[in-house]
Amino acid sequence: MICENLGVNSLGHLTFGGMDTVELAEKYGTPLYLMDENRIRHNCRTYINAIRKYFGENAGCLYASKACSFKRLYEIVREEGFGTDVVSSGEVYTALKAGFDLKNAFFHSNNKTDEDIAFAIDNGIGYFVCDNLEEVMAISETAAEKNVTQNILLRLTPGIDPHTYEAVNTGKVDSKFGSAIETGQAFEITKTALSLKNIRLCGFHCHVGSQIFDSEIYIRSSEIMLEFIARVKAELGFEAEILDLGGGYGVRYIDSNPYIDIDKNICELADFMKKTVAQLNIKMPRIYLEPGRSIVADAGMTLYTAGTVKKIPGYKNYVSIDGGMADNPRYALYGSYYSVRSATRPEAPCDMVCTLAGRCCESGDLIQENIRLPHDIKRGEKIAVLTTGAYNYSMSSNYNRLGKPPVVMINDGKDYVAVKRETLDDIIRNDI
Ligand SMILES: *Cc1c(COP(=O)(O)O)cnc(C)c1O
Repeated sequence: MICENLGVNSLGHLTFGGMDTVELAEKYGTPLYLMDENRIRHNCRTYINAIRKYFGENAGCLYASKACSFKRLYEIVREEGFGTDVVSSGEVYTALKAGFDLKNAFFHSNNKTDEDIAFAIDNGIGYFVCDNLEEVMAISETAAEKNVTQNILLRLTPGIDPHTYEAVNTGKVDSKFGSAIETGQAFEITKTALSLKNIRLCGFHCHVGSQIFDSEIYIRSSEIMLEFIARVKAELGFEAEILDLGGGYGVRYIDSNPYIDIDKNICELADFMKKTVAQLNIKMPRIYLEPGRSIVADAGMTLYTAGTVKKIPGYKNYVSIDGGMADNPRYALYGSYYSVRSATRPEAPCDMVCTLAGRCCESGDLIQENIRLPHDIKRGEKIAVLTTGAYNYSMSSNYNRLGKPPVVMINDGKDYVAVKRETLDDIIRNDI
């Protein structure tokens, strides 16, 4: 199967983290997000062990919490020695309420509001990762008003298009994120940041994309960033302490997606960077990586109950479920792939090509097209959509006034609720 935390038990039911998914669906109802705590911890350890082994003890990992954000998750990643990325006051607040030390939090986004900036500074945010010059100025002003010196990194655009699967110098300079090195804006913003009294520039950041399988992308972007650091050292006399290389490692949604050996990737990256800093005559900055998807994706699964099975002879078969784009908008948004199984009968022959359709009033509300399920699937059968731990719960909505599903955690044969199911009263709680 797509991930080693999946299995089949003696009842013939699909298991996840060793637990019977049909039993869990009956206990908690559907739609249901399941998360395997051990898998989250395993994924965290893979990163943290590798980054410390190859880049030294002061290198670190930040969990990009936009991938999946709720209190318990911040506790788990903190326990695993991670810092975190946040992108809104909502994420800052959630992390804070989880007891996360915000000194280890990095505030991203291409457009932080004045309220975000003030709120994050008031709560002792460790670093802002500044996207552009206006933002540096806004943070500088707020820091001056509050009489603090604020640590920042600058987000730069190294000019790499990860989806051509090759390093090119021009692509992605037009991104909405960051300041481009190629246009000279990165150098200008660095000069300005260094001149501001209430700002302490600590280094640079880049994030070239997501669901990346080609390790060459990281090598190439690290090279461009290190060359920039060397130039800034030579021309401005400032040597960056921190280099944050972003997240983006790909995960396996379907069988044709390759495995990524994170340890090997980080090892090769470190080898390359050690050689490069020596050639450029700069010191190795403190390195951060910011995985999101690859921490939580395969630690998640969504369980649904099948409803209508509609066969349109000569056309298409639809299996409709009791969730949809409200709990997983990713296929509707950008055609993401997922693997789908009957949780009730994962070993039954999958002899019917069909589309898994959501219940929302929107033709585009599909979870996946051209998948295979048993031809005699019927109302009431439990269906599992795999690898939904990233960008599902965090992107969920109340479209059609559907309540958000609960998040149930699995840990060593036990299950517990980390996020409650939204009730009908939750749906109207802000209606006057
Ligand atoms: C989204 C994002 C990440 C995480 O990306 P994944 O593909 O989920 O690993 C890391 N850093 C930044 C700045 C991001 O925007």
